[in-house]
Amino acid sequence: MNDRPTGRPDRRTFAIISHPDAGKTTLTEKLLIAGGAIHLAGEVKARGQTRRARSDWMKIEQQRGISVTSSVMTFEYDGLTFNLLDTPGHEDFSEDTYRTLTAVDSAVMVIDAARGIEAQTRKLFEVCRLRSVPIITFVNKVDREGRSPFDLMDQIADQLALDVAPMMWPAGLGGEFEGLYDVAGQRMLLPEGRVEPVDGLDDPKLDTMLSERAAARLREEVELGVGGYAAFDRAKYLSGDMTPVYFGSALRDFGVPELIHALRDLAPSPRPQPADPAPISPDQDGVTGFVFKVQANMNPQHRDRVAFMRLCSGKFRRGMKLNQSGTGKAIAVHSPILFFAQSREVADEAWPGDIIGIPNHGTLRVGDSLAEGTPVVFTGLPNFAPEILRRVQLVDPTKTKQLRKALDDLSEEGVVQVFHPAIGSQMIVGVVGQLQLEVLISRLEHEYKVDARLEPSPWDTARWIATDAAPDMAAFQSQHRSAMATDRDGQPVFLAKDLWDLNFVSGRSPTVRFSATKERV
Ligand code: GDP
Repeated sequence: MNDRPTGRPDRRTFAIISHPDAGKTTLTEKLLIAGGAIHLAGEVKARGQTRRARSDWMKIEQQRGISVTSSVMTFEYDGLTFNLLDTPGHEDFSEDTYRTLTAVDSAVMVIDAARGIEAQTRKLFEVCRLRSVPIITFVNKVDREGRSPFDLMDQIADQLALDVAPMMWPAGLGGEFEGLYDVAGQRMLLPEGRVEPVDGLDDPKLDTMLSERAAARLREEVELGVGGYAAFDRAKYLSGDMTPVYFGSALRDFGVPELIHALRDLAPSPRPQPADPAPISPDQDGVTGFVFKVQANMNPQHRDRVAFMRLCSGKFRRGMKLNQSGTGKAIAVHSPILFFAQSREVADEAWPGDIIGIPNHGTLRVGDSLAEGTPVVFTGLPNFAPEILRRVQLVDPTKTKQLRKALDDLSEEGVVQVFHPAIGSQMIVGVVGQLQLEVLISRLEHEYKVDARLEPSPWDTARWIATDAAPDMAAFQSQHRSAMATDRDGQPVFLAKDLWDLNFVSGRSPTVRFSATKERV
């Protein structure tokens, strides 16, 4: 299905996007079981449970530790390697979640059949859309009462502005669920695990497999559905304009193999990655990759970090020297980590689409690229405007230096963003999720021995600003001095009291561009 020159093994590098409770953990577990990593199943479950206990630091720490090993899960199915990148759920929602989606080639969107599209699904979907990430939809929990397939598909089409192509059709839902009809494959999947070929909907065999009522309803619905929705078009799927819709139950392991087959047969091989001046093709010689996530290691006593690099081209071999963008420094990667679901293994080689963990002491930052030759600049690795801004107040004012160092480190890790206001010396931290603030305070206290409080700030949101002409920038900055700040790279940022303030100011400043995302260069 995918055209690759010989020699380079294929990959499916994907993420699951969903709202909490839609069944992501359960589905992940079933995918890993299908991929033979059975003994991890319990671990995934355990993670699901600990994740729910939020504010207790030990638990956050525990979860962070575990998520180092489970942020990437590699499994094999049918001779093909799948890299599943975890996007942390609701409570631990942070920029990490967004950025992980820059490292995948496709996504599976899991929707609860009763709840349909929820807030978090939509947020994550928008990030996928920024990069035209192709999405396969899996409507989960068909074993429970849910909305009608029409309702669900119309909702996806309307709310996400995507064409939908039904690939499976449930014969009833909840108590009336009797199986799944494979629209293109002309097969009936029955709950006891049987798969029966049928010769279209008129095949009388359907009447022997289903109750009279279910058969009649299925015939009517599929006819309407197939007529009413578009047929699957792979080009449209690959461009992010169409989503094929599958149904199933992760809990009952029903419809899961079909989902894996869809990933195998429809989802893209490692795609060229956006870069300046030209995209980097996976077939290009020479190793290139970018860091999309940095995570402190499990032991908080050691300042070790693991940088997660997505390999974009070339064949990576252990011990290779790679040049870091920005600094131009060569880094020898002696003990890269691969993430086979059973264990963290030291990688000897890796290919485009693979994720390797690079232990380091803080030299690698999110957005950095690494290359065998001349460093490349990957584009589209944005920072996102924070939705919560707080002032940092030191309890012991002699610890200013330690605080600066700590905030520098933590902003490199992507735990928070730090802004330096033009007026005053108090730093502002910005996050997209509340849990990031809790993590910040705990880590300041435990790792950096800095006792700090977070206080309300007069600002609600931030925008990176840019102009075409330097005088315009200078004029804007002097006019709005009390709302100006710089981010950690020295880029100018406008702090707005609220959206009204933002709209008002931006409306009056036509030569200034306000951006809710910032690309690292
Ligand atoms: P996550 O928050 O998205 O990771 O969701 P989980 O996988 O933890 O699932 C949330 C709840 O839904 C758990 O109680 C699961 O047992 C349940 N669940 C998951 N999949 C299914 C399914 O297919 N059918 C039913 N009935 N329950 C499910």
